[in-house]
Order: sequence, then structure tokens, then C-alpha cells
Amino acid sequence: MMDILEAVLQSQPPALPKILAVRSCLQQSLDVYKPLQADLTQRMAQASHLDGEVREALMVQLLGRQDLGSSSPGPACAAAKQEVDILCAPAQLHLAADGSVEACLVSAGTWTFDAFALTQATEGHPLSVLAYWLLHQSGLAAWAQLDQVKLARWLCCIEDGYCANPYHNRSHAADVLQTMHMLLTRGGLVPGYADQQSMLAAYLAAVCHDYQHIGRTNDYLVQTQDELALRYNDRSPMENHHLAAAWSLLRVPQLNFLQALPQPAWDRLRKLVIELVLGTDKAGGVLGLHTIGPSTASSDSPQDPHPVVGSSCNSHSERKVLQPLSEQDKLISLQMALKCSDLGHLAAPLPVHLAWVSRLEAEFFLQGDVERADGLPLSPLCDRTKQGITKSQVGFFDFVALPLFNNFAARFTAAKPLLAGVMRNYRHWQAQAAAAEPERRTPGGPGAARA
Ligand SMILES: [Zn+2]
Repeated sequence: MMDILEAVLQSQPPALPKILAVRSCLQQSLDVYKPLQADLTQRMAQASHLDGEVREALMVQLLGRQDLGSSSPGPACAAAKQEVDILCAPAQLHLAADGSVEACLVSAGTWTFDAFALTQATEGHPLSVLAYWLLHQSGLAAWAQLDQVKLARWLCCIEDGYCANPYHNRSHAADVLQTMHMLLTRGGLVPGYADQQSMLAAYLAAVCHDYQHIGRTNDYLVQTQDELALRYNDRSPMENHHLAAAWSLLRVPQLNFLQALPQPAWDRLRKLVIELVLGTDKAGGVLGLHTIGPSTASSDSPQDPHPVVGSSCNSHSERKVLQPLSEQDKLISLQMALKCSDLGHLAAPLPVHLAWVSRLEAEFFLQGDVERADGLPLSPLCDRTKQGITKSQVGFFDFVALPLFNNFAARFTAAKPLLAGVMRNYRHWQAQAAAAEPERRTPGGPGAARA
């Protein structure tokens, strides 16, 4: 770039190869991150198979409520935030591994992990056990000289801070952590896109990404002028709280497992964890609808933005190490990885996926119950007297999940098993929708009753 500017300043034509190289770099590091919301929004508006409620719910996820035009705010929410008694936190983890725990931890290295099974095997401590194991098995605990006792205490505090929501609970956090682990180690992020520090940040971000989630959407918090929305000026109030509350624990000396990190490393770690967790906000156009383009790593020509420089990954054909174009490219890819992980159950074996969908629907209905009791308009898909999110699944896959997973797998081809799982479950919902269609068209059917 500087060479080109220098040539222009001297009224000399810059060399064409340099112009092409810079253009390619700029396109891939900046322009290609243009969100796809406009295109998806247009397609969604034209999608005849979406009913009004589903379309509204998806629009909120793509654009955010504020961009749709906010309705009048409701009364302040008095939902109590769980406080963690850090001094009572146990310093031991449930690591008395019998066969079932060991089997679950081994399955954490596969694309078919079942967080419910680990929750059962660990008697309700899936997150602390999995996180402690991964941090040690990966060598990160030794690399960063993590204080093991304090790490265990912190993990237990974080786990205890996950509320018993149907969906946003400690099992979900463990599930997200496991998918993030797979994307890092088997999906092509390591080593090119994630060094040890980035890996540590990604694990910690996954661990605390829904800490003290109260089972309400950001939209609800904003509409009801909840204290979290007021505190964070309506900007990702839940995610800001997860971060601030989890990180605040580190100010307690007994929990500060990062004390051995040099200050520059600590600063970078914190910055990265913040960027990753804030990136999980599903509303406001930050769902990860960026295109990072396909990888061209099979070529090592000078113009190749992803030259082959080594080998890793899980099959011979996928043995290529992708190199980021820039720090921004690296960060966005890690953010997308955590977003994919946050939706990782979409790729789970069908029974596991259905269990998660059922739990999310239950959580939405609980929010609807509160809204009804408080005399508020019910949020989309939160009315338990109607069909819940199960009716929106095809639209959700079409406009949210598949663009995200397709984009990610286009670059990180080793993550295609995840995409294959998503596609399998997508076909299930398509079949369900097709089977329900004649019923919806029947006068007096469920669709007619809601009309
Ligand atoms: Zn989550």
C-alpha cells in the first residue's frame, strides 16, 4: 500500500501486481465483511412460507428491535440477579471420574458430543469438569501458568452462577465450550487463526458467555427498562453483564487464576474475551452474517491469501493450515466460531438437537408468561397458547443458521462435519413443515385457528 501511495505521489503509475495484491487484500479483509442482512431481509420479506410472527421474530434477530421501531417500554423488571457466594465456592471439581465421565470427556473430541450426558455423568457439573479438563489437556493451563486451585474455584463459581433456565444453563455453556474446542482443534482455526493465547481466550469466553443469564431476551430487557438495559444503555445488556460479572470474580484474590500472566498478555486476553462474548449477541445485526469467502489454501501462489504452510486438521484432504489476512480477519473468524458454537446444538444428533429446541421453547414460554402477567405485549413465539419456536425452525435455518454455518465452513472446510449436522436437522424441520402444510391449509386447522 505504501509503495502504491509513494508512486502516486511521485506521479508514477504503481505496478499493477501491487495494485491487484492490495485490492485483493482489502477486499478480503474489509469489504467481504459487509453484512448480508440487506439481502437476507429482502429474501425474508418475499418468503411466502413465513407467517407474520415468525417473520417478526427473525427480523428482530437480524436487525434488532430498535431498527424495527421500538414499541413503548414496559415497567421496570424486578428480576433478581443471582449473586454468587465466592467464599463458599468449593475448590474441588467433580473429577472423580468413573467410566461415564471419562467416556463423555473422550466424546468431547468428536462432532457428536452430548452435553446432557456429561451433565448426568458429572452430577450437574458439566461446565467446570469439561473446562478444567480441556484447559489441562490442551496444555494451556501449563503454558499460561494458571493457578490450578484458583482456576477450579473460579470455574465452580462460574458454573454456580448459571441459573437453572431450561436452555441458558450450565449444560448449554458446556455444549458451547465443546463445540468451540472442536472448531479450534479440528475445524482449522489452530494454529493459523488461534495461537495459545487466542485459544485460552476462546475457551474462557465460551465458559462465561451466558454467565448469570436470567432467561430473558435482550429485547425484553430493553422493552422493560430492566436495570441491566439501563446500565448498559440498551447495548447487549445480557452479554455485557456476562462479561462484567465473570471478570469481576477475578478481582477476588482467591479466584484470580490469571495472576501469573504478564500484563501485556493479560490485556490482550481480556480484550479478546470481551470481543468474543459481545459478538454472541444475536440481535442488532451482529449475528455473524459476514462472508469470509472460500479458502483457496490448496494453492500456494503468491496471490493466494491462504497459502499452505503446514499441516494439521483431521483428514489428509483437509491438511492445510489457513493463515489469517490480518488481526481483524482473525478476530472475526474467532467471533464467528463462537457464534457457531453458541448454535452448536443445531448440528447435534437429532434427539439431542430436539431436546435443546424444546428447552429453548420452554424458556421463551416462561418469558411469555411473565409478559402476560405484567400486562405486556407478548414477544414473538413466546405465547404458550400457540405453537412456539418449532414453527419458525425452517425460517431460522434459512435466514440465520445456514448463512452463518455455510460461510464459516466455506473458509474452514475442516468444519464441514458441523455443517453436515446442521443440514441433516434442517431436512428434519423441512419435512415437519411439509407434513404440517396440508393441516395448516385445512379450515379449522391450527394455522386457521391462529389466523
Ligand atoms: Zn449461549
